[in-house]
Amino acid sequence: MEAVNQESVVAPGDLREAPISLTTTDTNLTGSWKFFRPVLQNRLSPCRQACPLGNDIPGLMQAVADEDLDKALAILRLYNPLPAVTGRVCPNFCQQECRRGGHDQEVLVGCVERFLGDYGLDRPFPKPDAQRPEKAAVVGSGPAGLSAAYFLAAAGIQVSIFERDPEPGGLLRYGIPAYRLPKNILAREIHNLTESLDIRLHLEHPVSEDHISSLVQEFDYLFCAPGLWSSVRPPELPESKLIIEGLDLLRRINREEKIEAESFAVIGGGNAAVDAARSLIRLGKKVDIIYRRSFAEMPAYEEEKLQALEEGVNLHERLVVSRAKEEDGRLRIVCAQAKTQDGRIVTGVEAKSLDVDRLVVAAGQAAHMRVPDHERVFCGGDLSLGPATVVQAMASGRQAAQEILQSVDPDLVQEQGICDPHMPTVSNTNPRLDYVPKESPLVPGQRDLTTRKSGFTEIHSGLSDQEISQAASRCLQCGSCSGCGICWFFCPDVAISLTPDDESRVHMDAEHCKGCGLCAAVCPRGVIEMEEDV
Ligand code: FAD
Repeated sequence: MEAVNQESVVAPGDLREAPISLTTTDTNLTGSWKFFRPVLQNRLSPCRQACPLGNDIPGLMQAVADEDLDKALAILRLYNPLPAVTGRVCPNFCQQECRRGGHDQEVLVGCVERFLGDYGLDRPFPKPDAQRPEKAAVVGSGPAGLSAAYFLAAAGIQVSIFERDPEPGGLLRYGIPAYRLPKNILAREIHNLTESLDIRLHLEHPVSEDHISSLVQEFDYLFCAPGLWSSVRPPELPESKLIIEGLDLLRRINREEKIEAESFAVIGGGNAAVDAARSLIRLGKKVDIIYRRSFAEMPAYEEEKLQALEEGVNLHERLVVSRAKEEDGRLRIVCAQAKTQDGRIVTGVEAKSLDVDRLVVAAGQAAHMRVPDHERVFCGGDLSLGPATVVQAMASGRQAAQEILQSVDPDLVQEQGICDPHMPTVSNTNPRLDYVPKESPLVPGQRDLTTRKSGFTEIHSGLSDQEISQAASRCLQCGSCSGCGICWFFCPDVAISLTPDDESRVHMDAEHCKGCGLCAAVCPRGVIEMEEDV
């Protein structure tokens, strides 16, 4: 490269004299010139805002980075009683909003949550300050029921859960396969929760619609979260014992029952279809998925879809089953082309036929029971939300618990467990991370393909202890001023001063700030925003 000739750029005499004031600027109150002023205040981080439970992610990341795991677990449990579960199966809405995402790598909140969840498996939950006389019944021990039970019991209410199955957990136990959520982890987390807080768990105790009325007599409050355990069945399909429901199949696999037959076609593109297909692959079966839209439009999680293909599931996109007929103990399935028109599926000519031993219908879930209306009966989870996610089901359980506590005694509603809805938020549109050094991404461990296909061992092994600490330290603490001093460094008016020992850390001198906005533009934590100076 040609060297720059300094002399040709600036020659002696080119620069005019610059005026320099040798007196103090204190007397010149340039702050009166501004139309906008910087406002520094704590704000809700985008990750926390995106979390249906409002987990205090920056708070617990800071505690992990400080190596205070007990504090981090305590913060997490204020919002989430099942972190070993959510750390494994939550789609991590928080990570999708992490401001570090476009910079180097989003903070792996799920991995840290999983680590803390496992750390807490045998560490009891704190007991309530006092037991109360009120009694609440919870129908269903899925994530919604467990979450409601937790928030009620933590406030001292006596809670009994009624569950029709032999083991608690709902879809966590009988839907999600063990290679994603090991059954021993789930069992330990639920056991710790119910034991620590004296939650009575009545297993193999189905509650009918009529029974709900008698529970209302016996208990002060009822929370019903029975989930959605009926399958939506396409009307074209005939009655046949060779056609089975996806949730029934998953329940049988999760109970380690023997699955007869060798080849399966699965209708659907959501979690149930992909979980059923991948579980069957692990049992050595041949599996085809038939989905009416494209691969990209399948609602199952991206990683699950990709891994299903890697593991050997055959995918037939843009097809619908138009006919199915039993022939010599097998099923002949005929599929027609499908295309989307104005958001609806329109079928075309028949394009493919498959001969399989079983057809698995996993194309949607529906309610299997109705809950009668009553002022002391609350509902939540998938039954109220429609097919949702674990964390959304838990949030609805907490919401119901808080409504109940509100009517028992408003003082019981734990403020710590709720994000302040009036708190201003960090803008996520333009993260100002130019001065945050880029770090290489962390890669969670994962079993190889052969091990994956050969059984139900958990696929992900998480991060090492050292990587957990790195992951937590990467959190920028968006929304809280750390006193990093970048605003002070860039302020052209010397209107910012740092006082590290002071709580508020950064002081803005309104009398001299001209409102240029540089401080807001460079603040990596998004705590400074410009507002009109009225
Ligand atoms: P459920 O989990 O269905 O629990 C309901 C409970 O009520 C069950 O234990 C049931 O036995 C019990 N019950 C029902 N009727 C009665 C009765 N009459 N008397 C007593 N008890 C009764 N979400 C994620 O976030 N991540 C995932 O990876 C994920 N994977 C999924 C995989 C599959 C196959 C499916 C189907 C869903 C998945 N989901 C996932 C969604 C998530 O599992 C659900 O949103 C969540 O479990 C709903 O919680 P719930 O408590 O409302 O219902």
